[in-house]
Amino acid sequence: MKKLIAILGSTGSIGTQALQVIEEHPDKYEAYVLTANNRVDELIAQARKFKPEAVVIANKSKYPQLKEALADLPIKVYAGEEALCQIVQEKAIDIVLTAMVGYAGLRPTMNAIRARKAIALANKETLVVAGELINALARVNRTPILPVDSEHSAVFQCLAGEAGNAIEKVILTASGGPFRTFSHEQLKTVTKEQALRHPNWDMGAKITIDSASMMNKGFEVIEAKWLFGVRPDQIEVVVHPQSVIHSMVQFADGAVKAQLGMPDMRLPIQYAFSYPNRLQASFPRLDFTRCTELTFEQPDTTRFRNLALAYEALHRAGNMPCIVNAANEVCVAAFLHDRISFLGMSDVIEKTMERVSFISKPAYEDYVATDAEARRVAEEIIRG
Ligand code: NAD
Ligand code: MG
Repeated sequence: MKKLIAILGSTGSIGTQALQVIEEHPDKYEAYVLTANNRVDELIAQARKFKPEAVVIANKSKYPQLKEALADLPIKVYAGEEALCQIVQEKAIDIVLTAMVGYAGLRPTMNAIRARKAIALANKETLVVAGELINALARVNRTPILPVDSEHSAVFQCLAGEAGNAIEKVILTASGGPFRTFSHEQLKTVTKEQALRHPNWDMGAKITIDSASMMNKGFEVIEAKWLFGVRPDQIEVVVHPQSVIHSMVQFADGAVKAQLGMPDMRLPIQYAFSYPNRLQASFPRLDFTRCTELTFEQPDTTRFRNLALAYEALHRAGNMPCIVNAANEVCVAAFLHDRISFLGMSDVIEKTMERVSFISKPAYEDYVATDAEARRVAEEIIRG
């Protein structure tokens, strides 16, 4: 039986790589739903190639173009946020891959869990914002949440066969990004062009900026807490510039297991689809004659304050990670429009954390309100 997959964000970096995985295994997987935000031409090309049951474009103004271009095919065409939230509940879907960016992933993910779809989770912001809520929903609906983020996939792979064995520590590796060796002075003037040049991974703009500022790693610490049920003090970050070790788990006896490989997101995507099995893949193999040096450094939370702010949000809990996420989304967009400096982003996030009302036990409506308030406050601070 083929597994039918809905890809939320099929035109992005993760989305297009997921389609490559599906193409490699046409007997096992089918792209059943494809969705995008704005890039209608790419979505049309994907739909003509993969012939999904349905496509959704979040931006409603692009609907006529999409509808017209697919008129000769029996593909259902929808538009808007509401359609996106509904389509994930389509009966036939087995797996929902959440590969869209940011807070926008929260509601569709919740709906997919309610419809008991397996979640292949790339959209880490969903767990950052509302990890507790998502876990509770997944428990009630007995839905697996399979990590796609390379670090969390690595941890997940290390945990295979370890049921019942307590985790002592999760060790997340970080490449350190393009500014790993930059001084505080140098960081003051870095540009978005520099920040968008990641040394090891080719990703969407938002996560690439998050990687440069190390907010991405902070978010991954929060993500690890919810995925693996570990305490904050059990999650360690180590900078490993070669990105060969994708992450590690240390067990009660001191043994450390690691997962290694080329930096290629198709592997974690495929593992989330095929778990608990492994499938043949044509991805490039690691060549140890060419990676002769694996190095490790401590992360520097003075130069990369976002990492410290994410840890602080994790400790303060409640809606604090949601506040940080919203402020960060506003800051990254502002940085990409040259409205704020690279280091200015941490200042805005810190101030937003102090100004938005704290809620210790947020319900869904509180997250919605917090996200809106934090965006407004962050925007005000940027305007000055
Ligand atoms: P991207 O910018 O390349 O693609 C994003 C996709 O989501 C696009 O198809 C876009 O149309 C869609 N989208 C964006 N905003 C949307 C909205 N509001 N509503 C509906 N659709 C929307 O991003 P990416 O690099 O593929 O990252 C996607 C997610 O995966 C992010 O949460 C990111 O943190 C996570 N992730 C990415 C990588 C990677 O290697 N790219 C690795 C780990 C985790
Ligand atoms: Mg990652």
